[in-house]
Formats: sequence, C-alpha cells, structure tokens
Amino acid sequence: MRRPVYLDNHATTRTDPRVVAAMLPYFTEHYGNAASVSHRFGWEAEEAVEKAREQIARAIGAEPREIVFTSGATESNNLAIKGLAQAARRKGEHIVTANAEHKAVLDPVKALARQGWSVTVVACDEHGRVSPEAVEGALTDRTVLVSVMAANNEVGTLNPIGEIGRLCHERGIVFHTDAAQAVGKIPVDVQGDGVDLLSLSAHKFYGPKGIGALYVRRRDPLVRLQPLLDGGGHERGMRSGTLAVPLIVGLGAAIELAMGERDDEARRQRELRDRLHAAIAARIPGIRLNGHPVDRLPGNLNLSFADVDGEALMMAMRDVAVSSGSACSAANPEPSHVLRAMGLDEDLARSSLRFGLGRFTTEEEVDFAAESVGSAVEKLRGQGVAWSPR
Ligand SMILES: *Cc1c(COP(=O)(O)O)cnc(C)c1O
Repeated sequence: MRRPVYLDNHATTRTDPRVVAAMLPYFTEHYGNAASVSHRFGWEAEEAVEKAREQIARAIGAEPREIVFTSGATESNNLAIKGLAQAARRKGEHIVTANAEHKAVLDPVKALARQGWSVTVVACDEHGRVSPEAVEGALTDRTVLVSVMAANNEVGTLNPIGEIGRLCHERGIVFHTDAAQAVGKIPVDVQGDGVDLLSLSAHKFYGPKGIGALYVRRRDPLVRLQPLLDGGGHERGMRSGTLAVPLIVGLGAAIELAMGERDDEARRQRELRDRLHAAIAARIPGIRLNGHPVDRLPGNLNLSFADVDGEALMMAMRDVAVSSGSACSAANPEPSHVLRAMGLDEDLARSSLRFGLGRFTTEEEVDFAAESVGSAVEKLRGQGVAWSPR
C-alpha cells in the first residue's frame, strides 16, 4: 500500500495513466494549432479537438457545437454567470443562487451584486440540499438566471436539478448548474434535466488539471453569453485563446473512461465508503454524518467528531490525506460556509473531516484510514476534555 493514502478526491484526482497515454502524442508529434487551417498539423489538432467535443457532448446529452472549452470549472462558472448576466441585462437584473454553492459560483455572483445586479441566495436544508420550492419562491419577473450545483463538493449532497431546471424553463429563465463533482459519477443529462449552462472540470474525473468545459444550450432556447476574453474569436467567440489541444484530448479521454465505468465504480465506491463509515462508527462514539444520508455522491463521507478539532485530527493522521471543515487554505481559517449553511455551529463545523474516495481507492486503504482516524480521535480525546454525549 502506498502512503500517504489519498482520500481527497473531491479536491482533485490522479490523472488516469490511460488518459496521460492519450495526451502524450499531442505534445510532441501532433503539436499543431487547432486554428491552423492550411496544413496537416492544424488539421490533426482540430480533428482531436472535435473528437473530444463529441465525447463530452455524448456524456451529458448535448451536441458537440454546444461545448466551449475553458481552463476549468472556475472559468466555466464565471463565463456562465457573468456572461449570461451581461447578455441578458435588458431582460432583467435578478439572479438566484444558493448558500452551499462553491466559491467559484458565489464570488462571481457577488461581483455582479457589487455592479448593481440584484441577487437572492436561497438557503439549503440541513442536508445541504436546495429545494425546488425555495428556488421557485425566489423567482421574480426580473429573474434571468438561476445557478444551483448538481452535487456538493464538501458533503456530496445531490440537488434536484431536474425539477429546478423544469421550473426555470416554464418561466423562460436560464438555468446554470456547476456539475464539477457530478459529471462522470452520477447521470447528468442536459435535456432531461432542463439545463441551459453546465460547468465541468477534467481534474475531478481523472483528467488533467487546467482544462474544463461549459455547455451552452443552442436550441430551445438559444442561450447568448457575453465573452470574458476578447481575442481571436475561438470557440464561436465565447472563449478566445489557442486551444490547449493535449489537455482537451485528455478531457475527452477522461470523460469517455468515466462514463464507461460510472455505474460499476459508483457501486464499488459506495460499498467502500459505507465500510469506512461503519468501521469509524464502530470504534468512535459521537460522530455525525454531514450531507444527505442517501442522495449523496458515492465516494463522499463527511463526518463531524464531537469535541475534536478537525485540523488537529488531520495533523494526527499524517498518513491519510483528507480535508477538514475549516481551513481551505492557511490564509482562510474560516469554518466551512457549506457546513455553516447546513446549520452546524462553528465547533461542529471545525470538527469535521471530508473523506473523498475515488477510482484508485482500495479496501486496504479504507481499513488503514479507519484505523488511523480511530487512534487519532482516541488520542486527542484522551488529551482534551472527556467525550460526553450532548
Ligand atoms: C473543483 C470545483 C470547482 C473548481 O474547478 P476548477 O476546475 O478547479 O476551477 C468548482 N466547483 C465545484 C463544485 C468544484 O468541485
């Protein structure tokens, strides 16, 4: 077993060696610019890009021409939210989102609010789920955009995006979903779910970092966006800049692999995740599951450990790589806004750990992690206040 054990697959994933193999020739042999129309180098690159566009479109039920390549989900979210808001300014200035969204949605929305847009941030429930009724209650005749994530990156909770999409469409409101955690793991279908704009990122499904895509609906209705970048007019004017051909090839290969293995992997990871949960629960009293008990990503386990500081717990289990419910970075030691939005108090939010299982996680690793967490919690509780049920 390789150590440390990697259980942080919501932060990023290892690039699958099969994906790397697909990418390599596009660095050294087929290195053309996909926009070069006058020679074979350009044609080869363009062909590879169009193949990836088809692979992505197939995975989400879209058409290839509806896929815009970006640098990742952060850029896709910015392009979707700011681009739509700018383009729809004459129709209305109201945007609806939710409080458990990723910062890559909340911050662009905040930026628009500073520039005069009006924003409603809907509250999620205690499981981190956004109800269609809450979204419906927030809509006005000035609403132009609703943005609700498909799956939460901290607690794994799945949102009813099909229902939210339907009610947006009934009112002619554009629906965006940040599906960075969902694509390749659970079924996502832009037609069935009534999605107009969808963000995805390769490094969340065993592809390379620095490449993603935005789905932009072209029919029923045609969605128009104001680009963030002006330049050569690539990607039908929506995202100028020379296409990152090797990364795009990697994105396409990664999404095709993930789709092929999706349901088997979901079953396997769910079993391992439940095994980890049971092993920790059997050893340690006073744990609490965060996120939806059932409607949650198969590889996600987010737990609070009463009276233990999550950061200290992480430090005490150096051979297991996880995330805690507080510090996202050293510069930002705030307790997680997602856990706070779910109603956890600061202490409980600070006492939480996120285990993110993935394609390469083994049973042996899960057992090692459970043992590691168990002894670390016992050690910390032994040092601090005695644990007592509250
Ligand atoms: C990782 C993640 C992002 C950011 O994606 P990048 O490609 O790293 O920019 C945005 N939203 C969610 C839900 C994520 O999990």
